[in-house]
Amino acid sequence: PDPASRSKAAHDRARASLPGGNTRTTVFMKPYQIYAERGEGCRVIDLDGVARIDCINNFTSLIHGHAHPALVEAACAQMRLGSAPGLPTLSEIDLAELLCGRVASVDRIRFSNSGTEAVMNALKAARAFTGRPKIAKCEGAYHGSYDYAEVSLETRPETWTQGPPASVPYAKGTPQGVLDDVVTLPFNDIDGAVSLIRAHGADLACVLVDPMPNRAGLVPADRAYLQALREATREVGALLVFDEVISFRLGYGGAQPFWGVEADLTTFGKIMGGGFPVGATGGRADVMAVFDPSEGKPALPAGGTFSANPVTMRAGLAAMELLDHAAFERLDAMGEKIRAGVDEAFRKAGVPGCATGKGSLLKIHFTDRPVRDYRSAHLGAAEAQRQAAFFRALLNEGVLMASYGLMALSTPMTDDDLDAILAAVAAGLEAAKAA
Ligand code: PMP
Repeated sequence: PDPASRSKAAHDRARASLPGGNTRTTVFMKPYQIYAERGEGCRVIDLDGVARIDCINNFTSLIHGHAHPALVEAACAQMRLGSAPGLPTLSEIDLAELLCGRVASVDRIRFSNSGTEAVMNALKAARAFTGRPKIAKCEGAYHGSYDYAEVSLETRPETWTQGPPASVPYAKGTPQGVLDDVVTLPFNDIDGAVSLIRAHGADLACVLVDPMPNRAGLVPADRAYLQALREATREVGALLVFDEVISFRLGYGGAQPFWGVEADLTTFGKIMGGGFPVGATGGRADVMAVFDPSEGKPALPAGGTFSANPVTMRAGLAAMELLDHAAFERLDAMGEKIRAGVDEAFRKAGVPGCATGKGSLLKIHFTDRPVRDYRSAHLGAAEAQRQAAFFRALLNEGVLMASYGLMALSTPMTDDDLDAILAAVAAGLEAAKAA
């Protein structure tokens, strides 16, 4: 902390107009938030002129770093034509065609402005299509802030008795009715999940699952687990919804090809907006027909003043077009190098820990328990202290990541940048050891 910091002055000023000086809980930091001035490639430069390698990329939403010339050009060109014409534009068809072309299970797509809305629309579409009230989701998995999707995002270790995970509120004020309509499934536990799906089958509209849930450990789901969810949902007549808001960045066709499991509905966000606010819900044509207004009021009317705004659509299209097969191969290799380097650094430092993840995503865990789900990823007090010290040390070493261990890599990163990240990790582990 630097008392003369311009970020500190900004945060002090912000406290008078924003609660706690903050607009996104995710970016809150004590004793003061670090304010960005600008981003450049894989670096973000703060108000005090400090440049850091950006390993969080707006919480996984940037895959080409900051101010990529092709994205800047696409957005500016559209700005000159107007940003919100209040009529559909060709840009939404272009991006919809690209996404339907890349994701085999997506026949139709509906745009929105955030991943939260994408998930909300998917859950509402599942209810509208099936006429059933309940949804199921995994313990500890984050899906944005729609009330139903937020249930059991956090559960306390003292409640981890035998038996199925409880549906508990995340935010104060969550109505009991919401909790009653959410079934919480154990992640990567086939028997536990399938028996719950069967028990609630007649009331279940859908099962919502992220194939590699960040907050639940960033561990890829077992293929057999996703296959079991696929079969059990079919058996009870519920839909399977994949949340690919983050995991779409795993490959050219998103996450589904890796597991060989096709969802009925898929939610998107983050990278497909080219750095602008975005969400999308796509899937089977018969299910997506709940949004179709051609025959009068649809089963699920959905507006959104800025949905499919052409600046987002054009920037998103530019971002996606840069992501060819070669780009994903490079991102995969970068991810492998950092995950292996982090594991090696833990060994060298003699600190218990490991990296999980896949492709351009990784999570650093301060535990040597095998991480398989939310509960095994949960850190004890001493482990959490090491993690906090590590995060702070990385900030000082010039690397920005999520305080809870998440990293997302980007295409502008060079080999030198990757080496610099690993050098910072090694220094950070020394600080963690001392904590
Ligand atoms: N689903 C997942 C898996 C997410 O990680 C997030 C956001 N981090 C969301 C949904 C919500 O997206 P947004 O923040 O754009 O509302």
